[in-house]
Amino acid sequence: MTEQLTRICILGGGFGGLYAALRLSQLPWEDAEKPEIVLIDKNDRFLFAPLLYELVTGELQTWEIAPPFEELLEDTGIHFYQAEVTGLDLDAQQIQLRERPELSYDKLVLAIGGKTPVDSVPGAKDYALPFRTLDDAYRLNERLRFLERSDRDKIRAAVIGGGYSGVELACKLSDRLGERGRTRLIDRGEQILRSAPEFNRQTAQQALQERQVWLDLETTIESVGSETLSLMYKGQVDTIAVDVVLWTVGTQVSELARSLPLATNEDGLLQITPTLQASDRDEIFALGDLADCRDATGQKVPATAQSALQQADYCAWNLWASLAGRPLLPFRYQPLGEMMALGKNNAALSGLGVNLDGTFAYLARRLIYLYRLPTLKHQLTVGLNWMTQPLVELFSE
Ligand SMILES: Cc1cc2nc3c(=O)[nH]c(=O)nc-3n(C[C@H](O)[C@H](O)[C@H](O)COP(=O)(O)OP(=O)(O)OC[C@H]3O[C@@H](n4cnc5c(N)ncnc54)[C@H](O)[C@@H]3O)c2cc1C
Repeated sequence: MTEQLTRICILGGGFGGLYAALRLSQLPWEDAEKPEIVLIDKNDRFLFAPLLYELVTGELQTWEIAPPFEELLEDTGIHFYQAEVTGLDLDAQQIQLRERPELSYDKLVLAIGGKTPVDSVPGAKDYALPFRTLDDAYRLNERLRFLERSDRDKIRAAVIGGGYSGVELACKLSDRLGERGRTRLIDRGEQILRSAPEFNRQTAQQALQERQVWLDLETTIESVGSETLSLMYKGQVDTIAVDVVLWTVGTQVSELARSLPLATNEDGLLQITPTLQASDRDEIFALGDLADCRDATGQKVPATAQSALQQADYCAWNLWASLAGRPLLPFRYQPLGEMMALGKNNAALSGLGVNLDGTFAYLARRLIYLYRLPTLKHQLTVGLNWMTQPLVELFSE
């Protein structure tokens, strides 16, 4: 009789889930104890979200920033299921999947991320475009192509939210639209990038200014129409004409994560221990954007790719340790700084005592992200393409 393998199911193949799965498959398992690793994602591709803006300017292509899971997991022994997780029975340790039979697990990793809430203002759900997924980027490109082909003189774009996503998107949009574009960035605060290092904020401000992006600060959105936007500034409502509205504000936990009988904070994020486990269920690990995490030093861990990547290493190690009967390690978050794309060939980077802007920051950001892409094979394919692309362009001119 063959013994049933321990099954680890990882839900969500993003920065938390995919990297945890890859790391887990590389750990020193004795053959007998090697578990079955199952990665489940509703999409067929991983998305390297920090490079999503480059699809808007055409600087990068889908295959570079969103490789198929099947390709990434080749030769890793990890099983990939493309399926939407619709529910979980934590007592029976069963996962419900859309149009697929239920799946049981011994250990579970929750890493399904979050979503952009576009329902806080009338009309936003119908007329504003979020910018989080590959489909969002395709939808935006489709709208932009339609506007670019039209005979309108100007293309008016409004980006809601002066955080990282809003600022990066406004710069890239402005570069794409060029002379025809009229881009504005709207935020309810007194300044953009409230939590960013001073150097990055100032560099971003300059990049926006150079691109003539109009800044509406201390301004709230009242409603979004099919081609209008109503803004409230100092108690007065003004309705302006727009051709495309991008919504970048906030991250919300999915209904699935909210529905689980696990401890959550007031924002619905799953409360986890420093070992990245659900507080009352040792067999469940959670990481990334859906988790409210304080590390071993009590430091609050931000909802970023950088955090999810670091958590993925600890999560994999702790899964291994929990099966090997070894002590689990409390997560220690290392803030490594931050980078922002500020238009084509321009970026800002601040961290570990280094501040960079312009082309140097752009190149450094590209190289750091190249190194962060999943799997050596994908890094090499993309890196080679980046090296040969300028030559191909030169000879095709
Ligand atoms: C445009 C953009 C730019 C960003 N730039 C940066 C940056 O420069 N630096 C940085 O550190 N962070 C950045 N972030 C944030 C970063 O991408 C997130 O913090 C990170 O992706 C969180 O990782 P995660 O694993 O929790 O979720 P994700 O990476 O979002 O992965 C979640 C996965 O779960 C899957 N999923 C969701 N629901 C289900 C379901 N029901 N069934 C099956 N699968 C499901 C999704 O398809 C997805 O693959 C950016 C985010 C965006 C959107």
